[in-house]
Amino acid sequence: MPTKFIVVLGSIMSGLGKGVVSSSIMKILDMYDFKVLPIKFDGYLNYDCGTMNPYRHGEVFVLDDKGEVDMDFGTYERFLNRSLTSSSSITGGKLFGEIIEKERKGEYLGEDVQVIPHLTNEIQEKVKDFAVKSNLDFVVIEVGGTVGDIENGYFIEAMRQLSLKEQVVFVDVTYVPRLKTVGEQKTKPTQSAFRTLMGMGIIPQFLICRTDGEMADGVKKKLAMFTSLDESRVINDPDMTSPYQLPQYLIDQNFDKLLLQAFNLPKKKINVEKVEKWRNNVDKIINKYEKIVTVAVVGKYVELKDSYVSVREALMHAAGKLSVNLNIKWVESELLEKSDTESMLKGVDGIIVPGGFGNRGIEGMINAIKYARENDIPYLGLCLGMQLMAVEFARDVCNLKGANSTEFNPNTKYNIIDILPSQLSVKQKGGTMRLGAWSMVIKGKDSIAFSSYHKKVVSERHRHRYEFNNKFRKVLQKNGLKITATTKDNKLVEIIEWQSGFGIATQAHPELKSRIEAPSPLFLSFLNAAKNKS
Ligand code: GLN
Repeated sequence: MPTKFIVVLGSIMSGLGKGVVSSSIMKILDMYDFKVLPIKFDGYLNYDCGTMNPYRHGEVFVLDDKGEVDMDFGTYERFLNRSLTSSSSITGGKLFGEIIEKERKGEYLGEDVQVIPHLTNEIQEKVKDFAVKSNLDFVVIEVGGTVGDIENGYFIEAMRQLSLKEQVVFVDVTYVPRLKTVGEQKTKPTQSAFRTLMGMGIIPQFLICRTDGEMADGVKKKLAMFTSLDESRVINDPDMTSPYQLPQYLIDQNFDKLLLQAFNLPKKKINVEKVEKWRNNVDKIINKYEKIVTVAVVGKYVELKDSYVSVREALMHAAGKLSVNLNIKWVESELLEKSDTESMLKGVDGIIVPGGFGNRGIEGMINAIKYARENDIPYLGLCLGMQLMAVEFARDVCNLKGANSTEFNPNTKYNIIDILPSQLSVKQKGGTMRLGAWSMVIKGKDSIAFSSYHKKVVSERHRHRYEFNNKFRKVLQKNGLKITATTKDNKLVEIIEWQSGFGIATQAHPELKSRIEAPSPLFLSFLNAAKNKS
């Protein structure tokens, strides 16, 4: 069957959860045993997300193939339970870069290169090429940004042109606000957004309406009337306990059948086993359990929760599996420098220090790690969290005063963490860290690492420039720090552990591969230790 395309647009404002809608549509198609993959368009002129501040843009997600991509990719992977590649990410930066390169090579000799048709053709070719190469039944294309933005206008125009040649269905994710004072859900913003889209030559076949609570009948009718859509195609997307509930919620509204109908596909049976499996996993996550486990995440970007989405999700996956109620306490690490650590961390069952860059808040994270070690609180360190676990151990156990990472103090006498040798010659910032999936070898069986993964060779994703300094392996080990995994050539330390209690940290980002259907082994053991503690 020729590949079919579903284009997901967003109206009115950002933050409506287009990524969750796109992921849910993919999950539903997967439940029908169709082969489906996403493409994400992002209009910004950065080549990729790698140089963006998580404070502004949310987490930078890393793929196996080293791609530093939008955090929506995390949502796609968690729903689809499969690893994606950078070819799913098309940014303004990549496109313009390629067009200019082609122009310089003379590929457009004699022409004036324009957004239409050159850029829009390039986009369509990329999309079609992706579909053919991956041999897909469906591509779900999420257009980043909001309809009406200048940044994504050329993507939307490219999709309009694609719809003239290929089978394309447009889905508009929109907002139906409730005015508190009148208590009524208002349709006018969506009516005018729909008109904007029609002015661009696009008629959505589905409206997915973000609301607080389901739409009243009259509201649905009104939207259907103004958009000339059948009422059944005006779909509810109310706030839910968990975004993982959305696929089932859409199915309950017949969205799956209507979508296949929109492509004139013959009726097909859904794979009941897949539906059941998903439902069971989601139920486990949303269930309320008696056992409450409180985990403190001590980071510098906690004000914007999107900065640590994958950590939060990985914890949630583990909590579902272990049947516990998860309570995450977000702790701004800078505050731990000023106030007493004990008063801020007292009573938590586990502590995580996640990834991060730059000096701010580092000493607060080190205080948190010391507190965990001295009070026997389960600790999990992720990337920066591993580097600081080593620094804390060097300072407080090995008595190497002033030990640090050269990222934070280039002149430290004890540079426990230092720049990776391979980074010394690197001048450019973008895409040059140690990125993507790398395997590590777990040494022996007597470690938390082995009892978590149950195998010797594991692969996790990475994103760092600094690394454990091998010069200090001996002294730290002699004082009781365990190095339980390294790269195969033994050159880079990948996992360290405390000798007693539960303390483990990895140079990798295991949170990036945690899925609802396959929770991260390290998060599972960590949360289990915290559960036993609580
Ligand atoms: N800043 C550290 C490094 O570059 C840690 C990076 C991270 O936590 N992702 O090595």
